[in-house]
Amino acid sequence: MSPSTCWTTPDYHWTVSETLPPCPECASEYTYEMGALLVCPECAHEWSPAASVEAEDESTEIKDAVGNVLADGDTVTVIKDLKVKGSATAIKVGTKVRNIRLVNGVGDHDIDCKVDGFGPMQLKSSVVKKV
Ligand SMILES: [Zn+2]
Repeated sequence: MSPSTCWTTPDYHWTVSETLPPCPECASEYTYEMGALLVCPECAHEWSPAASVEAEDESTEIKDAVGNVLADGDTVTVIKDLKVKGSATAIKVGTKVRNIRLVNGVGDHDIDCKVDGFGPMQLKSSVVKKV
């Protein structure tokens, strides 16, 4: 009856069947299990999956600028130019951001992600649109 976590399938591929989260260090999606730990093949980070699942219980939905519900692993595009502190260039409209993570960030920032050319940062869900 009650829909469980709804993993919509954007044009993004989970290479693993279950719910292995992306690497918390480098956001790589190619993580794999090794015993009780998860391992990232790209930066060699190892961590316990239990620690990173705790946010799941809060069923606060985070929506993009047009009301689509966002989920971890979604790909979004930026809908307006964003000035970046400490950078001479802005993140341009239409910039694609892959593999977002929903977080309780600083202020209104509820998306943790890595933007090509800029690196890891937090964005507001109100400035992105799900792809
Ligand atoms: Zn990693």
